[in-house]
Amino acid sequence: MTAAATATELPRGAVTAELGFPNDPDNLYLQTVNTMLDAAELLNLKHRTRIILAQPKNEIMVHFPVKMDDGHHQLFKGYRIQHNNACGPYKGGFRFHHDVHLDDVKSLALLMTMKCAVVRIPFGGGKGGVKVNTRDLSEGELQRLTRRYCSAIMDQIGPDVDIPAPDVGTTAQIMAWFADTYMMSSTHQHHDALRCVTGKPVEFGGSAGRLKATGQGVADTLAEMLPSIGIPLQGMKVSLLGFGNVNGWGGQILQDMGATIVAVMDHTGAIRNDKGIDCKALYEHNMKTGGIAGFDGAVDVIDEEAFYRTTVDVFIPGALEQMIKEKQAGWLDCKVMAEAANAPCDPSGERKLAEKGVEVIPAILANAGGVTVSYFEWVQNKNAVTWSAEQVDRELNRHMVVAAQRTMERRRDLNCSLREAAFASALDHIGSVYKVRGIFP
Ligand code: NAD
Repeated sequence: MTAAATATELPRGAVTAELGFPNDPDNLYLQTVNTMLDAAELLNLKHRTRIILAQPKNEIMVHFPVKMDDGHHQLFKGYRIQHNNACGPYKGGFRFHHDVHLDDVKSLALLMTMKCAVVRIPFGGGKGGVKVNTRDLSEGELQRLTRRYCSAIMDQIGPDVDIPAPDVGTTAQIMAWFADTYMMSSTHQHHDALRCVTGKPVEFGGSAGRLKATGQGVADTLAEMLPSIGIPLQGMKVSLLGFGNVNGWGGQILQDMGATIVAVMDHTGAIRNDKGIDCKALYEHNMKTGGIAGFDGAVDVIDEEAFYRTTVDVFIPGALEQMIKEKQAGWLDCKVMAEAANAPCDPSGERKLAEKGVEVIPAILANAGGVTVSYFEWVQNKNAVTWSAEQVDRELNRHMVVAAQRTMERRRDLNCSLREAAFASALDHIGSVYKVRGIFP
């Protein structure tokens, strides 16, 4: 099909065929593109905008050596995907994980473009990663790996070009090493170069509230949306998949809001207490031991199936991508799933949840709190000011509430799922930016 013939509407298959995508239903990138194209279809979005958004603008792949403690050199593979910068500099985390693949990073970068547009912050989308198991590295090796990854992509990123942040397996300390490497090596004015990365430690340009921001954003979104779904926040039962940065904080905040966290599972095991698990004590335990196993908080140790079968109002997946397949979705007994993790379901899992009538609050809305506070950090660095924790919380809440309301309005207008509505809200914004900017030349 020619571009001229497609100036009006195109079903998703025509766009992916035009761009030569392999038709692999299990491919995470294809799944993410198809979700975006379904929403584009609802909006009658221009063909040119659909094809631009269906592929990343830049795919950077690097290989770099790192000197290990025993003196030998090991070669690592890293990625930085710059999906779209129509609305502002590329923005998105980078992860250190043994299972990092190009298509997954592309998918996460596309989601970042959509996420920034849902909350209307002036950024585009990017994502990065290095294939590595950080548990195998000493602190010195981790620092050298971080600095080499930064230097490998340094020419393609920058405070007004592409601003990385933490993700799975990367921490505030890693952002500090990354920023230091960039500041020591770039031609940018030294202190302005601090804006090259967000999620830094507070003493080195980080923002108050960044650590808990994603979990806080999940809680703010639920507080805004659950009343219209008919679930009172006070006393609602919640289960958490994953208890790391996002769900560790999210669990504590929801507990403070009056929710009861009845089941938690992470990579070390699963626990349940129908009267409520104390998430603050569990967080302390997790920080000390690296997992929830061995928590002595009047809990029953359960298996994976029992975890998913626990009856709750809200299930919050906050671990890795694609963990909820048809089997897990079949076991789930919840009214709402709030996606704290990106793309937690595979297509079969998503179909099963739709069949069961589970309301899904999509990741591009639910977990947008992290990038929103990253944006606040970038603004504070740019203006050399420091916001109080209260100001950060207030501004975050305002962004999350407006984004949730916009999504619910879109769902009413288009009579679609919340996922399609959130993508539609993002595409409203990106489409209008392309409309006024035009396509160069
Ligand atoms: P994290 O590394 O701090 O925590 C990950 C959690 O997942 C851990 O509790 C770990 O035990 C658990 N986990 C890993 N493998 C598991 C398995 N097989 N079974 C059960 N649990 C398992 O990561 P995080 O920063 O909390 O991120 C979690 C998710 O949220 C990721 O998908 C990430 O992309 C997404 N996210 C994070 C942020 C952020 O600000 N950190 C922002 C937006 C989205």
